[in-house]
Order: sequence, then structure tokens, then C-alpha cells
Amino acid sequence: MAIKTLELIRKRLAERPEEIAKARREGQKVVGWQGYNIPEEIIYALGLIPVRIGVGGDDRLVEIGARYISTKNCVFVRETVGLFAENKDPYIQNTDFLAFDATCLQTYRTAEILEYYFNKEVIILGVPRNFYWPEAKVYFTKEVEYFTKRLEEQTGTKLDNQVLADTIALYDRIREAIVTIYQYQAATANYLSWEETYDLIHAGYYLDRREYLSLLEQVLSELREKQGQPVIEVTEDEARIFISGSVIPPGDKKLISIINEVGGRIVGDDLWSGLIPYLEVKIPENSLQGLAVGYLNRTPHGALPYLDLDTDQRIKRLKELIKTFKAQGVIYHTLRYCDPYTFKAKETKDILQKVGIPLLEIHTEYAGSDFEAIRTRVEAFVEMIRNKHYEEVAV
Ligand code: SF4
Repeated sequence: MAIKTLELIRKRLAERPEEIAKARREGQKVVGWQGYNIPEEIIYALGLIPVRIGVGGDDRLVEIGARYISTKNCVFVRETVGLFAENKDPYIQNTDFLAFDATCLQTYRTAEILEYYFNKEVIILGVPRNFYWPEAKVYFTKEVEYFTKRLEEQTGTKLDNQVLADTIALYDRIREAIVTIYQYQAATANYLSWEETYDLIHAGYYLDRREYLSLLEQVLSELREKQGQPVIEVTEDEARIFISGSVIPPGDKKLISIINEVGGRIVGDDLWSGLIPYLEVKIPENSLQGLAVGYLNRTPHGALPYLDLDTDQRIKRLKELIKTFKAQGVIYHTLRYCDPYTFKAKETKDILQKVGIPLLEIHTEYAGSDFEAIRTRVEAFVEMIRNKHYEEVAV
């Protein structure tokens, strides 16, 4: 779709592993992190190189990982363990230590496995189960402070307030650019697909964040030049799909390619590997407490229990995004043994049904054996959506 900056990003991604290896030889340290609530700003502000680790879609690595972690864990965490067991991925090879949060307890378990079997130094960030209690704010702030102290010990440097403020401003601009790019991908006449936007997000897992912001702004300027303001209208022949549910990390293309093959158009998501971490991050002050509050006030991750569906912020945000992107149906992706999202599939379906949005749950893993079965179900869903008259969802 001819956004020239995408080629430059691909080139920079190909060069990045060697660049990181060189930075390490020159004394810089690399933190591989995984989770949803880690304020990456702190890692960057301490002069460390943050790399968001974890890929998907490779059943061979899942098998290797399963030699160390129970097969009753989701394939994403098994593949993460497989990556460390095999130790061939350049980003895995080039981490000095790791940071994991305890949002999803399977991620936390992964951290324990990496410590135990592979002697990795892992800093854990505790996460409260209920974000709305006043105690949660106190607890999480203390956790963020302790997390920072551990990072400071690793680097031998103290976090500088001005550098933290500059870094928060940098990350705010990254978030703003990503949210704006999402509007462009969902537009009727678009020059950037959701799939390219998704790859763009994942590029930010690896590239230096200052360079990443500059590349995002180049993409935006190309989009503005070609598209003007993004206008989202539903045309008759479209089948506009919203993706929700379990993580779809870099490398996991199965469901995405099936939706494309059968003529569906993905226009939005609320995945923790997609848009949702960048939405509504309002950091009230440039301090560790400000960061903790800002992260607590984001859309909560599905792995956190919340029983009152009428006030559930995750559900509220899901409906708002479906409305914003004018999606006609939701494909809810659940990975086998991803209990958090699998348990929430039925309630999510029931709630969306009440506002006229159909939901198809696809329960899968990384093996290809269910490809045809999924294809048949997705194809029928896409056809159903295409023939359905579009009505804006009430939020
Ligand atoms: S939320 Fe689900 S997919 Fe993500 S790490 Fe936890 S169990 Fe795995």
C-alpha cells in the first residue's frame, strides 16, 4: 500500500540485532521484558535498552518450551520458554537481565522457570488484582519504586527526574502517534492496513524509542499527505472485523491470514499485543507515583478478575473501540490454556449480542492442524457480516 517509511522500518529491524549486540559490547545493558503493566519509561530513562520479548506461531518452540513448563500453560508462554531453551534468537541472546510483571500469572510462572532452568536474573513487578481499591494505588506505587530500585542496582545509576520527565514526554508522543495511525488504517480509503499497523507496533518492541517515534511520525506525515483526514464509512461490500482476546504476538499470523484470505477486513483490536496498551495513558505527574497511577488507570488487562460486567472498563472500552472503528463483528481469539481470556469469551459474547454485535470465538494454538476448520468458520462469519446492515453500536 505504498507507505515508503515501512521499507525503512523493515531495514532498520534487520539491522537492529547487530546494533544491540554492539551497544552491549560497548557496555550498555539490555532488559528483555514481558507483561502489560511494566512502565517501560523507567527502563529507558535509566539508559537501558528495553526489548519487549516473546513471539508466537512456532509449534516447534512450543514443544521445546514444554520440556520445562507444564503443557497446561498457554502456547505463548511455552514458546517464550522455548526461545530461552533454544537460545538462538538474537534478542534473547542479547538480554542482560529480564523484567516480568505479574499481571497474568502464567507470565509470572514463566519468569520463575527462566530463573530456575536458565539462571536468568528476573526483576518482577507485582500487580494488584483489583485496580480500583485505594490500597491498589499504594501497593502498585511501592512496587514501581522497588522495581526502579532493582534496576538502579543493576545499572549503578540513579533515576534522574528530568530524564524521566523527558522520557514520559517521548512515550506520550509514541502513544499519540500510534492511536492516530489506527484511525488512518480503519479509514474507508486507507493506505495502511491493520496488518501493517500491527507490524508497526511490534517494530517498537525492538527499535530505539527515539528513532521509533521519528519513524512513526514519518508514517503519519505520509498518511496525511495521501489521505488527508481519515474518514471512516462502511461500504456495502466490506466485512469489518474487530479482533479481541488472547495475545497475538509477532510471528503468529495464522488467524490474521485466514481472515484476509476469506475477504474479511480487520479494522481494530483491543489486544495487549496491539492497540490497548497505548490508549488513555494519562500520567498525572512526572514521578514514579505518577507513572504508577497512569498505568493503573489504563484499560485493565483481561487476566485481572472483575465481576461486575456493568462497570467493567475492559467491556466499556471494547464497545467504544467497536464504535470508533465501525466494526461489524468481533473475532475473539483464545489460545488453548489461556484461561483468563477463555473464561471471558461467553460473557463478552452475551454483552455484545445485546448491542447487535456478533462474536465468533476461535479457540486455537500454534499447530496448523486446525487451519481448515478455522477457515470454514471464519469464512461463514465474514459472509454473515458482509450481508448484515451496519448499525452503530450503542455504548
Ligand atoms: S493472558 Fe493468556 S495468552 Fe497472555 S500470557 Fe496469560 S495465559 Fe498466555
